Parts: sequence; C-alpha cells; structure tokens
Amino acid sequence: MKTMTVERLKNYVNGAWIDVASSAVQEVRNPATGEVIALCPLGGAAEVDAAVRAAHAAYATWRRVPAEERVQYLFKLKALLEEHAEELAAVVTRENGKTLSEARGDVRRGIQMVEVAIGAPSLLMGQALEDVAHGIDCESVRQPMGVFACIAPFNFPAMVPLWFYPFAVACGNTFVCKPSEQVPLTQRLMFELIHRAGFPRGVLNLVNGGKETVNAILEHPLIRGVSFVGSSPVAEYVYKVGAAHGKRVQALGGAKNFIIVMPDAEMDKAIDAIAESAFGCAGERCLAASVVLAVGDAHGKLRAGLVERIGQYKVGDGSKPETTMGPVISQKSKERVVSYIDKGVTEGAELVCDGRKVATKETGYFVGPTLFDKVTPKMTIAKEEIFGPVLCMMQVGGLDEAMTIAGSHPLANASSIFTTSGKSARQFRYEIDASMAGVNIGVAAPMSFFGFGGAKGSFFGDLKAHGREAFDFYTDRKVLISRW
Ligand code: NAD
Repeated sequence: MKTMTVERLKNYVNGAWIDVASSAVQEVRNPATGEVIALCPLGGAAEVDAAVRAAHAAYATWRRVPAEERVQYLFKLKALLEEHAEELAAVVTRENGKTLSEARGDVRRGIQMVEVAIGAPSLLMGQALEDVAHGIDCESVRQPMGVFACIAPFNFPAMVPLWFYPFAVACGNTFVCKPSEQVPLTQRLMFELIHRAGFPRGVLNLVNGGKETVNAILEHPLIRGVSFVGSSPVAEYVYKVGAAHGKRVQALGGAKNFIIVMPDAEMDKAIDAIAESAFGCAGERCLAASVVLAVGDAHGKLRAGLVERIGQYKVGDGSKPETTMGPVISQKSKERVVSYIDKGVTEGAELVCDGRKVATKETGYFVGPTLFDKVTPKMTIAKEEIFGPVLCMMQVGGLDEAMTIAGSHPLANASSIFTTSGKSARQFRYEIDASMAGVNIGVAAPMSFFGFGGAKGSFFGDLKAHGREAFDFYTDRKVLISRW
C-alpha cells in the first residue's frame, strides 16, 4: 500500500517560510472525503513573537514608503491573484468543502478588497483648514500605527483575511495574519503569491495556530490592533481581552438572520433568493437566511416553493460540477447540525425536509438542506446559530409582529425583507437592528467599498471591516496646528 506523507505547514515570517517548533498540530481534512490533507501546526507565544518582531522591524521602513509606492505591491498581488484565481478556488473547495462556483465567489470577493485598498493614496487624504484662528492653520492627516493582526474563521478562507491586510498595509502598517486552523491552505497559497509580489520582508506575516496563538496575539505589546471574525462568544472574548491590552479591536461575531416575506412579494424570486441564502455554502455563511418570517398568505406559497427548490439540490463533493451543495466543515460540525435538527423535532417544530437523510456516495461530512415549519421564537433552533443548512419558518400575522420577533433576538448581523411595497420596505429599513439589511436580496453582503459588520451581539467594536471604515481602523488621525 502506498503511504502518502502529509505536509506539515510552515509559518511565513520576515519573508521566509519557517518551521514551527511546537509539536501540537491539527489535522486539516477535506470535508468531502474526510481525508487528511495537511497538518496545521498550533504555535504559541514564541511563534507569534517572532512574526510580530519581524513586522515591527519592517514597520520602521514601510511607514516611510509613499502610499503610491506601497500600492504598487498590491497591484502586483492583484495580478497574481487573478492569474491564480482558479487554483485558489480549488484549494478553497478542497479544504472548506464549498462548491467550486462558491469558492470562485470567495476568491473574487477577496480580490475586490485588494482593488479598494489600492485606492489608498486618495482614501488616506486628510482635511485642512486655513485660519482656524488668526494666522493659525489646521490639518488632520492619517498616519499608520504599527503592527496589526487578524484572526479568521473557516468559512471564507480566501476572502475574510483579505478584508484586513490589504487595507492595513496600504495604510503603512505591517501585519500578522492567523487563518483558521481548519482551513490554512488557502492563505498558504496566498502568501506564496504575496512573496512573489515582492513585498519587503516582514510587511506581511502568516502564523498558523489556534486558541493559544490567538491569546498570544491579544497579549502582545507590539500589536496595535486586532481584527477578528468568528463566533460571537470568541468575538466578545477577543474584544475584551484585546481592549484590556490597549489594542484597537473590531470583532465580527455570529448571526441569526431573519428574512421577512410579505404577501405582496414577487414569490418566485423570493423563493430562489431565500433558498440560495439558506443553503448556499451549506448554510455556513454569516449572512445566511436562518429564520423566515412569512407574513399571512405568504406562508403557503413560500413553503411549497422552498420544498420544491430543496428537492433540486445535489449534495456532494464540491469539486464535482454537478454538485450544488457541499459538505459542512467537519464531523463535529455535522454532529452539531444534526443535534439541532433532533432538538427541533423534540421541541415540536414540523420537520418538512430532513437533511439527516441525505445519501451520497462520499464519506464526508454531509447534511442535506433542511426545512422546519411551525417554529416558535422560544425553540432552540430559532434562538441559536446553527451554521449549517437548516432553515426555520414561522407564520406571523403582520410586519409589526415580524419586526418584533427579529428585534428581540440578541444577534443582529443581517436581515432582509421581500416585498413590492415601498411602505413596508421603508419600515423595515428604518427599524431593523441588523446593520446589513436587504430589500429583495437574499444575502445582504456589502461590497468591498462599503463597510461590513453587524450590530448587537454580532459585532464588538465601532469601526466595521473594509470600505472607508478600514482606513479609519488602520490609521490614527493626527491633527497638526501651525502658526508661523
Ligand atoms: P470560531 O469562533 O470557532 O473561530 C474563529 C477563530 O477564532 C479561529 O481562527 C480560531 O482559531 C479562533 N478561536 C476559536 N476558539 C477560540 C477560543 N476559545 N479562544 C481564542 N480563539 C479561538 O469560528 P468558526 O467556527 O471558524 O467560524 C464560524 C463563525 O464565524 C460563525 O459563528 C459565523 O457566524 C462567524 N462569522 C461571522 C462573520 C461576520 O462577518 N460577522 C463572517 C464569517 C463568519
């Protein structure tokens, strides 16, 4: 029998790939097959310190490079990302499980971040006013601050880290990226491209690891700010510990996204958009539809339409062209999703489509698209983030009742309404807590030139990810007052 050696990943520090001394590793598995495809080393304080010191040393020079010159490296990176987009998408599918077309979207959205960061020379401009008092002029300029870090989740291996580092380095900071230990291979390839783009040594560094690495990042005295994306309990922890160590923190957390469907909605379009939102990326999206609030008569048509769409899904290995829904990330995740389905049944919801029955030839972590009806706000499946392909339906009497249910949930990441009424749409836009809100949109995802982030328990911090907010997060606004 042929034995394959599984590659043990390295960190990228000071422009070179280095071995990680720590013996602790996490197996990286292809979720479609269960096969171990790499070993991710779980480094600790020493590995983080090495990367931060390299970044700190590089900062002294990098901050003096004119913004126009700094973005030339991002132009090169953008060209390399385009050239290797298909290869990156294949790696995303292999380690995350999502379908190839979803993986292409993950990569494309990431490339768009680089495109916006390239606007740094314009977006970094400050403000000035002559004669703020007699003979006194005042300017405000944006200055970089030093070393920043990001801690990423498993669900968008290409895009989420790119929400941060292109902006941070375009502003003149240097960076340490910690990808999810479940999906470290996409960033490994991306850092090979970063290397080829020729960034000066130490400007961008990659450290692999888990919880211990995160703690070392939060406590490191030379790190000025941390961007986090992941589940709400960890987001809250990162926010509190990072802030206690004097850092700027933006921590994007979990979600429970409510979709309201009015009886006047264009139902076919709504059904397509909601099915894609709930079951795309196997429900592992922080913007995924989680609870559908069907107002009055919308309920019957919506339920029938969703059942029909669910019947069309082909669950399987995301690398195969016929697959329209891939696996969830891990065996543990599969068990968690299945236990939520069990709980929904026990608590009295009607299980309309049962994803536990999914039958595929592969040995991976598959759960089929699942639909519950007659869900109530008190049920566990309506309260907790499932992060899998499970959609809950409730029938409600009117828009006010729907708004009350959505508004009473502690998480408020994204929400949408489907309607042809301007009045209903306006009430929704005006009152909804979620700070990514869609009208006739299934996945209310802001593009790279807008900010991204939720509200309430879905977001800890003040400045959101990417867009103009990134230039606020990654700079200090210094005010210069002069009299000559
Ligand atoms: P996670 O919270 O388990 O892990 C995220 C990161 O935190 C990883 O890099 C991991 O190494 C680290 N981590 C995990 N547990 C930790 C601990 N106890 N202490 C310190 N660090 C820890 O999240 P995940 O499972 O990778 O990703 C899914 C979650 O991310 C979902 O809740 C989803 O809603 C959320 N998410 C949110 C957004 C958003 O924009 N709000 C985007 C994508 C994903």
